[in-house]
Amino acid sequence: MKRALVLGGGGFIGGHLAHRLKNEGFWVRSVDIKEAHEFWNHEEMCNEYLCADLRDPVKVKEVMSVQEGGEMHPFDEVYQLAADMGGAGYIFTGDNDANVMHNSAMINLNVAYEASRQGAKRVFYSSSACMYPERNQVDPNNPNCVEDSAYPAAPDSEYGWEKLFSERLFLAFNRNYKLDVRVARFHNIFGPMGTWTGGKEKAPAAMCRKVAETDEGGSIEVWGTGQQTRSFLYIDDCLEAVLRFMRQDDFLGPVNIGSEEMVTINQLAQMTIDISGKDLSIDNIEGEEFKTKYGFACPIGVMGRNSDNTLYEEKMGWAVAMPLIDGMKKTFDWINQEVKNA
Ligand code: NAD
Repeated sequence: MKRALVLGGGGFIGGHLAHRLKNEGFWVRSVDIKEAHEFWNHEEMCNEYLCADLRDPVKVKEVMSVQEGGEMHPFDEVYQLAADMGGAGYIFTGDNDANVMHNSAMINLNVAYEASRQGAKRVFYSSSACMYPERNQVDPNNPNCVEDSAYPAAPDSEYGWEKLFSERLFLAFNRNYKLDVRVARFHNIFGPMGTWTGGKEKAPAAMCRKVAETDEGGSIEVWGTGQQTRSFLYIDDCLEAVLRFMRQDDFLGPVNIGSEEMVTINQLAQMTIDISGKDLSIDNIEGEEFKTKYGFACPIGVMGRNSDNTLYEEKMGWAVAMPLIDGMKKTFDWINQEVKNA
């Protein structure tokens, strides 16, 4: 039986990934600083769930191999998804910069080192589109996020700088210690069973929550002018893309994993409203009005961002398929129910 380790297995993508790997027949260990996954039942999701702080090198050493029959066995697949992260309200205000950089870098330093030392067979690292330079994402209609546009580096957030550092870290372990790595840059992954409230939720979940909580005839607040563009990839397509990338031998990345269906944030908001069937309006809040209300500048991030999947499709011979609206319907249904149950 093959073994997989999902670090950050208590999170959104980690939970789905562990579940998928278990269904594929892997023996799966999930590790997270959270005591339990908020939404998944552990038996359904993995074979073993460990609560551990991966900033601690001793913990990372302990979880990186499996003891069986008196022997230690390295993992066949390690997925490094653990990170101190959240939506715009968490990573773009500046208030969490030191924690975001320190915590995630510590985790990645420990994981790259121990995976290499204990002979993990292959390691996946989830970087982010936030590492792309701000200068190529100023025009909302024409963002450039092709992989080789990354340098000269100029991410617009410390979160992006840490991701860039850690991409390089894993690739350096590959060059110097033959650690077999795969590095992908995720572009806004969304779906059910993820954070939808509390400040760490991302735009699709926040839209669904706001729409679910608002009564007929009301309005939902959208940060910024709403003209900033993004693309969003549904979790099932993300997992398929990750696993195809992990299970080929020639290409290490970095490669984008995202959708090329670019929409404005107001279009995403309107789509969510339409899915709900309610009659709601959109209230864009920015500038001084925002600052007075929240006490910090409106954290919208870059004006335009879209995945460029040319390289992925060329190397993998496969393209993500699900239209945004189909994924948003599934996500809205789930969050709507969560709101009702809350
Ligand atoms: P998430 O926040 O739901 O999951 C990350 C998990 O890491 C959380 O469960 C958290 O508790 C855990 N973690 C944080 N610090 C830890 C520590 N010290 N020790 C152990 N666990 C710790 O986020 P996600 O959306 O599932 O993202 C997974 C990965 O993908 C992250 O690395 C993220 O940066 C990257 N990514 C995600 C997106 C997206 O749109 N979801 C986009 C780009 C990149």
